[in-house]
Amino acid sequence: MVIEATSQQPIRLAIIGVGKIARDQHLPAIAADPRFNLVAAVSRNAVVDGVANYHDIAALLADRNDLDAVSICTPPVGRASIAMAAIDAGLDVMMEKPPAATLSEVARIEAHAVVAGRTLFATWHSREAAGVAAARAWLADRKVERVTIEWREDIRRWHPGQDWILEAGGFGVFDPGINALSIATKILPGAWTVERAVLRVPEGRMSPLSADLTMMCGDVPATAAFDFLQEGPQQWDIVVETDDGRLTLRMGGSILDIDGTVTEAPDAEYAGLYARFEDLVRTRRSDVDVTPLRLVADAFLVGSRETLPTFAW
Ligand code: NAP
Repeated sequence: MVIEATSQQPIRLAIIGVGKIARDQHLPAIAADPRFNLVAAVSRNAVVDGVANYHDIAALLADRNDLDAVSICTPPVGRASIAMAAIDAGLDVMMEKPPAATLSEVARIEAHAVVAGRTLFATWHSREAAGVAAARAWLADRKVERVTIEWREDIRRWHPGQDWILEAGGFGVFDPGINALSIATKILPGAWTVERAVLRVPEGRMSPLSADLTMMCGDVPATAAFDFLQEGPQQWDIVVETDDGRLTLRMGGSILDIDGTVTEAPDAEYAGLYARFEDLVRTRRSDVDVTPLRLVADAFLVGSRETLPTFAW
């Protein structure tokens, strides 16, 4: 039996998948938020101190009847079956980005949550970056003329040994690139389409290490350059030119530069995500926006392929 969380008691949470992002961001954010009580973790290899640990979701659900929700931090392939098992057990579900490996999987999870009356939160952490809300507000009453995205990072530095990322369904360079698309579609909520794409896949791998997208946001041209082999300075920039000046979001959205006036705030992306999840659970609502995933899917649909030399860690 699942006991409904009340406003008096914290949400009893299990974290599923204890890898880099779970350790870097989720566990600290949960520990810092009194509205959550982490009671269990699911991992085939890792152990989280101070909570019950389980090898897989089936073992968790067989043993616990005191959970309210799960937060899923596994790679996108396999996430749908985890999410649906949790929903079937009467739990609310928060999912790391991208919400699943395919659009049809997300639709299936969402339908499952609707039928079961559970909260489903498909997170986009980059939308919580410090400059994003102010950028959206500034752009709201200006005429946009061009959007340029440059997202270049070193896979060896940020994703060491994560072979899944270059497998089918791993998204390759779209794993970080989808963060840029999540911000762009938030600050410019128009009708985005992918017109052309070039995907560069290393010999013997399934997902691209670099990609160039030619898009439209309404009638505004937009381009994105995604590169996973960037050494030296890393770059996560979105430039929006308008008839009234230039807006630049740097460092993944944490720095906002409007015509040379720069504002910056400390990172609070995951604190923001958990605050939002708590609100969704308490008010029995869901938040599932597939717009960034749809653009990635379209890039895979229309993209031409080029082959890169073999990639080794
Ligand atoms: P990771 O370090 O590889 O961790 C993923 C964890 O999921 C693993 O520790 C693994 O734990 C579990 N897992 C379950 N099935 C798996 C499978 N088939 N292959 C590999 N691992 C599997 O990856 P991550 O960087 O944390 O990324 C996880 C998700 O978070 C991705 O969707 C990614 O886009 C998102 N994310 C990552 C970052 C980042 O900076 N790395 C930032 C934001 C969001 P066990 O083996 O112990 O079961």
